[in-house]
Amino acid sequence: MEAEAAIFVSVVAFSWLVFAWEALLYRRQRRVHLSTLTVPPELVGSSLTQETLLKARSYQLDKGAFGSVSNLYSQIESTLILLLGGIPYLWSFTGDLVRRLGYSADYEVSRSCLFLLLASLFSAATSLPWSLYGNFVVEERHGFNKQTLGFFLKDQLKKLVVMQMIVLPISSLLLHIIQRGGPLFFLYAWAFTLLVTLLLITVYADYIAPLFDRFTPLPDGPLRREIESMAASIAFPLTKIYVVEGSKRSSHSNAYFYGFYKNKRIVLFDTLLAKGVEPQGEGEELQGEEPKGKGEEPKGEEPQGKGEESLGKEPQGEVPQGKGEEPQGKGEEPKEKKDAKLGCSNEEVLAVLGHELGHWKLGHTTKNLVISQVNSLLCFSLFAALIGRPELFAAFGFHDEQPTLIGLIIIFQFVFSPYNELLSVVLTVLSRRFEFAADAFAASLGRATALRSALVKLSSDNLGLPVADWLYSAWRYSHPPLLERLRALGDARKDD
Ligand code: ZN
Repeated sequence: MEAEAAIFVSVVAFSWLVFAWEALLYRRQRRVHLSTLTVPPELVGSSLTQETLLKARSYQLDKGAFGSVSNLYSQIESTLILLLGGIPYLWSFTGDLVRRLGYSADYEVSRSCLFLLLASLFSAATSLPWSLYGNFVVEERHGFNKQTLGFFLKDQLKKLVVMQMIVLPISSLLLHIIQRGGPLFFLYAWAFTLLVTLLLITVYADYIAPLFDRFTPLPDGPLRREIESMAASIAFPLTKIYVVEGSKRSSHSNAYFYGFYKNKRIVLFDTLLAKGVEPQGEGEELQGEEPKGKGEEPKGEEPQGKGEESLGKEPQGEVPQGKGEEPQGKGEEPKEKKDAKLGCSNEEVLAVLGHELGHWKLGHTTKNLVISQVNSLLCFSLFAALIGRPELFAAFGFHDEQPTLIGLIIIFQFVFSPYNELLSVVLTVLSRRFEFAADAFAASLGRATALRSALVKLSSDNLGLPVADWLYSAWRYSHPPLLERLRALGDARKDD
């Protein structure tokens, strides 16, 4: 086989191998879900009731089935794009478009931006039916969807526009650097992406996230004072505390902190507070306001290292948060709904924050940032070594020209795919270690008991199941399964 055919076949075959492996893992997971019919002995008497467990089981089975079908669709779509030469087709189409607009197709950077724009429009269009079904059928059925169709569509459009405004200028600059950087271009390209990452971390929370969600300062009260005193006790440089509404878009995030150096902010999700702050009489305003679902988080250039946290047990799923005690509007079992969402007491909120601050104190965010930068430097160096190989381009239908953008896509996405898979597994394993360490940190602040009950409540509120297939969770879970975390905390508790 010629080199280019071998490259193409290996890339397609590898993507199917990964797909088959994940489908196999999911079958194992599904078997565990099907056989989970009663609350595990460790959790009998906890806030996870038998009724909630059965609801969670049906939610997880539904969500899993939907995920399998949509994954199969994506896999077929991307294979067809490769087999039918979608990438060279779109590239030559942008060339024609640029010429028709009266420019020379030699303006490679403008042409590349047009390519990226059209590719995002295509992917937005093909993924829309799936996200509509996911939100308005699957999530709706289990009482998680809070969005109206109009709101959802507006939100998707906003996301697309904001993404393009970020991605296009950054890509143009990066392409210029790669093309004009000389022999050391990969160093400059890496330094540039590092700079962009730091910039995005700086502006994301203050300027980008508020475009999608409403942030309000946490009102003064016992909770606020206790958070401040806990932060002070471990020298966390806290400047502001916010509550964010519409936590739905952020699959399972319950609290996070962000900011550089001596200027840190804490953000609590309204669902975390739910009823917890109500009895204190100081946080009611937070409950009254209309929740706004905000769709998913913008993907892609999302800044790393902002310390976002998810305590739910299945972080890779796009599961919206439970939304406090809002009835679902279907009129079914309103009383049950009210009881179904527990929310956290102040003690539990503080325990969750103790876990978050553990990530800071133990340097997890910095470590993640360093790892991602070392990886990025490595990838750019390999890219420099490979970009001059015409057979890589030829393998994907580019025989006469080697556009830089196409080189980036081929090398970073296709050639590196085995490496990317491996890295993702290693990072998932590392992430679980960090979670245990952050739990232990919260326990060292004397908050093990409250954290245990918070974890059970959050899992129940999100209709998570406390059990998982070990291989599936080892491969996919960035957070350890609930029972493992509880067991680890049980030991830590002796140190309280
Ligand atoms: Zn964590």
